[in-house]
Amino acid sequence: MPQLATRMGRAKPSAIMVIAEKAKRLKAEGRDIVSFSIGVPNFLPGEHVYAAAREALSKDSGQYGSNRGADALVDAFLAHIDALGLTGYKRENVSTGVGAKQILYNLAEALLDEGDEIAFPAPYWTSYLDIAEIVGAKINILPCPPEQHYKLTPAQLDEALARKPRVFLFNNPSNPTGMVYTRDEIAALADVIAKYPDTWIITDDIYNTMVFDGVGYHNFVHVRPELKDRTIFVDSLSKTYGMPGWRVGFIAAPETVARAVTTLNSNHITSLPEVVTAAAVAALAGPQDVPAQKCVEFAGKRDRVYNALVSIPGVVCPRPQGAFYAFPDISVAFGKKHNGVEITSDVDFCAVLLDAKGVACVPGSAFGEPRALRISYSCPDEALDKGMARIVEFFAELS
Ligand code: PMP
Repeated sequence: MPQLATRMGRAKPSAIMVIAEKAKRLKAEGRDIVSFSIGVPNFLPGEHVYAAAREALSKDSGQYGSNRGADALVDAFLAHIDALGLTGYKRENVSTGVGAKQILYNLAEALLDEGDEIAFPAPYWTSYLDIAEIVGAKINILPCPPEQHYKLTPAQLDEALARKPRVFLFNNPSNPTGMVYTRDEIAALADVIAKYPDTWIITDDIYNTMVFDGVGYHNFVHVRPELKDRTIFVDSLSKTYGMPGWRVGFIAAPETVARAVTTLNSNHITSLPEVVTAAAVAALAGPQDVPAQKCVEFAGKRDRVYNALVSIPGVVCPRPQGAFYAFPDISVAFGKKHNGVEITSDVDFCAVLLDAKGVACVPGSAFGEPRALRISYSCPDEALDKGMARIVEFFAELS
């Protein structure tokens, strides 16, 4: 029998998908399931996006497109990031991909040789670990427990960068925690980064327009423009424009990195489809009322989830200020029983909660924090309140 490549021994299916599939199966069996498991925005883009897609379809060229991304798309992205305060980038600094995930995979291939070190904070988005493992990188995980509000401290970063990793990967606003770094916190981390010129900095900031409470979105490049030489800003239409299925991601990066990603594109995806490109241009360049309105709605949902969580004795939840996730520390439940079933871990907790109450959450260990679980709260308010009431009830029934 022929063998798979060695790297497949390190590749695993997404832990989030495993839970989401189980929730789907139970629903199909007729159970009343509330799913907080999958990170989808649960809204659709504005009508102008569909109109642009239909128009493109009617004029289909039938051709391959640009490996970097069509000029119109690259220009729309440049204007979009200019409005975010990321100024002075040119077309040569940009590349596109099939979602931020494929861009991150490309970056791992472009920047990391086998055995090179990548450092990133935990809790982390699951794919960071999975992708780094597939490419055979050495991984330095920087633990940021709930006691420090899941945020990386300058001292931790200093220690990590002193090891001269090839890449430091940073995510703000955070999936899974919903934490958002203030300008002062970003500035303090940027001061550390400035001391270590041998490390590429990837900032995965795909939730950058989903920030609440006036905290604002800040990047290392805002506070230290000289870091542009080695900072790679990753963006996506998936969450902020309600377009996860359209699969459009971007980078704004030093030219060498944008070129490398474009070269990799030329060897696998070739280009984004024409219809997708037209829809993406319309999303970026058209009216911004849908993302703006959703941000306000998500802040309201955050309040509903947060208020329910902090009402539970022993549960600790740093207050999320962005994206659509809450990440409570539920370890108070460990060692307790629900209807005689013992809970010893986050994985047990999520399994028993799903069986007993029909609420699907993702165990924190999927994100490198086994004391917590992730609640993705983008669902309609009615389902949100129902699910949260069941979680509160579940805790009250523990003995
Ligand atoms: N980065 C983070 C932090 C994410 O949460 C996700 C999606 N869950 C991605 C990247 C990938 O997004 P995309 O749909 O653009 O591939």
